Amino acid sequence: MERNNKGGGIRKKQEKQGISQRKQKAFFFTTLLVLMFALIYNFLGFRQELALGENYIMVTFLDVGQGESILLRSNAHAVLIDGGEHRYRQVILDYLHLSDVRHIDYVIATHPHSDHIGGLITVLSSVSVGQVVMPDVTHNTTTFDNFVSVIENRAIPIRIAHAGDSIQAGIINLKVLAPYGTQARLNDMSVVVRMEHGQTSFLFTGDAESASERQMVSSGMNLSSNVLNVGHHGSRTSTTEIFLNAVSPDIAVISLGRNNQFGHPHHEVMERLQSQNITILRTDELGTIQMITNGYVIAIV
Ligand SMILES: [Zn+2]
Repeated sequence: MERNNKGGGIRKKQEKQGISQRKQKAFFFTTLLVLMFALIYNFLGFRQELALGENYIMVTFLDVGQGESILLRSNAHAVLIDGGEHRYRQVILDYLHLSDVRHIDYVIATHPHSDHIGGLITVLSSVSVGQVVMPDVTHNTTTFDNFVSVIENRAIPIRIAHAGDSIQAGIINLKVLAPYGTQARLNDMSVVVRMEHGQTSFLFTGDAESASERQMVSSGMNLSSNVLNVGHHGSRTSTTEIFLNAVSPDIAVISLGRNNQFGHPHHEVMERLQSQNITILRTDELGTIQMITNGYVIAIV
């Protein structure tokens, strides 16, 4: 398709490493299916026993209806990105319990909308949390007030995220790609992080829209990722072509509610993803989606 002609500087940089990247992608695809079946077999047999091997990171896109909540977990560390609406809080608590997560190193609140921070209020009040990472922005809602109150009451340190920052929890390495300064729209203040583990990579975009996407592309930072968490629940205001070309994902995950009032995912976004033959996984169709990476391959489990 057109993807090789677009993406500006980043694409050109990628072309220089073209051969090794193509090799990596071929390796990724050939081993993906084999590992998928092996891991499904293992996980069906030992579903309750979710202890991970030393080099494994589990990435879980929780089904929190129209909202978003993603847990990154290694054997010893955990990072929670967003917590869905308040009414889905039990989904997160149950999953943390099932996964035996008793301490979360970082809770990343991408931005203050209720479909991202609502469920975090209960998580922050009932689970040990090392630090809350959030953008430098406030929001005039009861949900945001409650969110701030619980952080203050529990005396959890707050870290304001800026593009260029790094967040590390054991083998979970995150690079903050956005936000830059102050943005006109709250969605564009979303904390965007890219996780690199060995040769595998994931991009988590919150509700970042086209303005933030443009800045990320022009920043020259590495956006290329195997898995893209599609911005703003598949809204047409995100996943612009230039951004998608820079990320060039193999798999796109969309967190959204069935028959949601916004018409997400918008058909323009679906067409953009489909035109690049990207595998699309949706929480409204599949429920909670789990992936595991050992730094070489990513398996859907
Ligand atoms: Zn949202």
